[in-house]
Amino acid sequence: MAVINDNYLKLPGSYLFAEIARRVNTFKNENPNANVIRLGIGDVTRPLPQAIIESMHKAVDEMGNEATFRGYGPEQGYNFLIQKIIEFDYSPRGIKLDEDEIFVSDGSKSDTANIQEIFGLDNIIAVTDPVYPVYVDSNVMAGRTGELGTDGKWSKITYIPCTAGNNFIPELPKNKVDLIYLCFPNNPTGMTISKEELKKWVDYAKANKSIILYDAAYEAYIQEDHVPHSIYEIEGAKEVAIEFRSFSKNAGFTGTRCAFTVVPKEVMAYTANGEAYPLNKLWNRRQTTKFNGVPYIIQRGAEAVYSEAGQKQIKAMVDYYMANAKIIREGIASTGIQVFGGVNAPYIWLKTPNGLDSWAFFDKLLNEAHLVGTPGVGFGPSGEGYFRLTAFGNRENTEEAVNRFKTRLKL
Ligand code: PLP
Repeated sequence: MAVINDNYLKLPGSYLFAEIARRVNTFKNENPNANVIRLGIGDVTRPLPQAIIESMHKAVDEMGNEATFRGYGPEQGYNFLIQKIIEFDYSPRGIKLDEDEIFVSDGSKSDTANIQEIFGLDNIIAVTDPVYPVYVDSNVMAGRTGELGTDGKWSKITYIPCTAGNNFIPELPKNKVDLIYLCFPNNPTGMTISKEELKKWVDYAKANKSIILYDAAYEAYIQEDHVPHSIYEIEGAKEVAIEFRSFSKNAGFTGTRCAFTVVPKEVMAYTANGEAYPLNKLWNRRQTTKFNGVPYIIQRGAEAVYSEAGQKQIKAMVDYYMANAKIIREGIASTGIQVFGGVNAPYIWLKTPNGLDSWAFFDKLLNEAHLVGTPGVGFGPSGEGYFRLTAFGNRENTEEAVNRFKTRLKL
């Protein structure tokens, strides 16, 4: 008899987006002429930049020619891309990385979900709350999280609340934790962390022999000089941190799929008898066994992100979304609603007015302004009373949405 991994049955299901779809459909059936604008999606909308398209076209032609055809590539990614990543993303910030410390992949979603496989099941994990759900769910599937309580929390996860009350700065846990997921700029709050605050986490990890899993998928959206782009800007971080980066949000690769994960050779975890073991070696083993590399054509597209034209074009794209973010942030703030994020991230996190819970505000926004966003509680218990909007729409819809916020919403 084949037995299932019954940890999967513990997962509550993708209630959030299913419930949003259900409510929007009901509304549309009752109001067939309403023009509903969605500011809820975390997906980009601008087309791929020209430099990337040209590079991929060229690679397609190479694949059709016997002399330049490529079959399986290195599981860790082609050197031409890895060298550019080091040269552009790390060296200018004084971070020295070797080529075999970078692992090119098909996405930060897969990498942040898969990384837990190289750690034992007894590790205590910590997540900021609210949180990108992949970190939690992948640990549920592995059987590391205990049971789900009526408060929406898993019994063996340490939740680190990030709310307006602590200015969205995660505080060090009182209990000892082993694996710490941090994401900055943050999805969903759109907030960042200073070098001083991040250093506290690096110091904690060093003192407790913990590992920080640092998701920097939104790094390209950082506008302010003092905000760290990489955890490796913090002294000592190479000993305790793995960093995830993606081309999804900086270059429009959500449907094209390319990302990378940095696992420095210094970063160690421990065997049952306390011997230090390099995680780089384990992740390499995992990837070479379970992953066969990102397509050559896609990696050539990602390489073009670093060309002179590519750099200009991706900056224009990020600027476009950040102009949307400013429109949303300032427009909504002018109604008296408290807004957070949207300065170094494409997400705007607002405090629901008049003490409404996240879903009540969702219904109000849909009914009064025909706008769809994401209820904050869907990202974790500390998201209750908050609401997420994204800057990934087009300009016209963004402006119209803000106009409706100002004129139609009864506050
Ligand atoms: N990490 C965070 C925090 C995200 O919000 C997302 C996507 O929304 C991802 C990772 C996924 O990135 P990718 O498209 O590279 O899988």
